[in-house]
Amino acid sequence: MRCTKAYIYQDNLRHNLNEIKKNLKKGTKICLAVKADAYGHNAVLASKIAEECGAEYLAVATVDEGIELRENGIKAHILLLSLCTPSEMKALFEYKITPLVFSEEYIKTLAKEADSYFTDSQKHEVHLAVDTGMGRIGCYSSEAAEEARLIESSSHLKLGGMITHFALSDGVSDQAQDFTKTQYEDFVRAVDSVRSAGINPGICSCGSSAALMTHPEMHFDMVRPGIIAYGYYPDQVTREYLSSHGINIDLKPVLSFETQVVAIRHFPAGKSVSYGRTWTAPCDTDIAVLPVGYADGLLRRFSPGLEVTINGHNYPVVGRICMDQCMVDIGKDNKDVRLWDKVLIFGPEESGALNTAEALASLGKTISYEVLTSLTKRVVRHII
Ligand SMILES: *Cc1c(COP(=O)(O)O)cnc(C)c1O
Repeated sequence: MRCTKAYIYQDNLRHNLNEIKKNLKKGTKICLAVKADAYGHNAVLASKIAEECGAEYLAVATVDEGIELRENGIKAHILLLSLCTPSEMKALFEYKITPLVFSEEYIKTLAKEADSYFTDSQKHEVHLAVDTGMGRIGCYSSEAAEEARLIESSSHLKLGGMITHFALSDGVSDQAQDFTKTQYEDFVRAVDSVRSAGINPGICSCGSSAALMTHPEMHFDMVRPGIIAYGYYPDQVTREYLSSHGINIDLKPVLSFETQVVAIRHFPAGKSVSYGRTWTAPCDTDIAVLPVGYADGLLRRFSPGLEVTINGHNYPVVGRICMDQCMVDIGKDNKDVRLWDKVLIFGPEESGALNTAEALASLGKTISYEVLTSLTKRVVRHII
């Protein structure tokens, strides 16, 4: 019912996934990152479209996110990218979620939970995480064979794959490229050591969106795109690098964030707007009030600077963004803006928006990932 809402242009997600596929060698699997409700795009919808486009894997960050997908009929493999605690482990088996594992203690705990869950000889797949330089989760490459042995020696776990994550995949300087190469080679060493120990390393993956585009030689068995599927480059540097290297991938934003004008007020010169009185009308003007604020995900730090689109023109948000409202200077007697008109904050071209999440990100000194995942629950997502 509420006018402040988001539209999910599902065909744009299909389009982006097909663009990704075009850049893959035949047989390379796709694992779409649908964590954080598919970066705010509705994880169940994104997962269904991903399955339809041939993605065999989906990636979530929490066990609950995995359960939501299973309860909505998703059949693809579900990779749990973050670690969980012992109390959540039973659900991994129950809902067929593939965890990332490493460290003797974590593997032994999971193996024990598996022993008490499974009554037959069934084996549950896990992917071994290797820290090649991200400094987050994973064993060192020198420990990989030992940990793979530990997995394989348990009664109810088996190694289904190996995974690592690049720290500088969004850095394209020579130095960054060197570090990524070092990480890749370290991962290759880890995979080889597991194979030399007589264990099948399974489905190996290392590239997220950035590496997927900039390092096709590092695709391995599977790539793990996230942000590009939702229509954005990981950052501006990657976008510039790709265009200067003639790598073409046509991305369309998937989500539009919209609201409506709910009041238009005449302001005399000298009257201030919002908390802190950071903006004062320099001359007589009209101010449009919008029912959207930082509790919707329109971050307070977007103002000053933010402009929103009304009927094909951009107008500045003035004064501080409040929790639930903000104000826009539309200029005196503006015939192009009327009460109840649609206002676009960002979105794909066809939504009529002139801004993208990337533009807002640069305003807020952040990345499009954060702009997208900041949209809160009360911004209802409508699928079109
Ligand atoms: C989030 C995530 C991805 C996807 O990252 P993008 O930059 O959005 O493509 C891939 N792999 C891991 C381990 C992740 O955490």
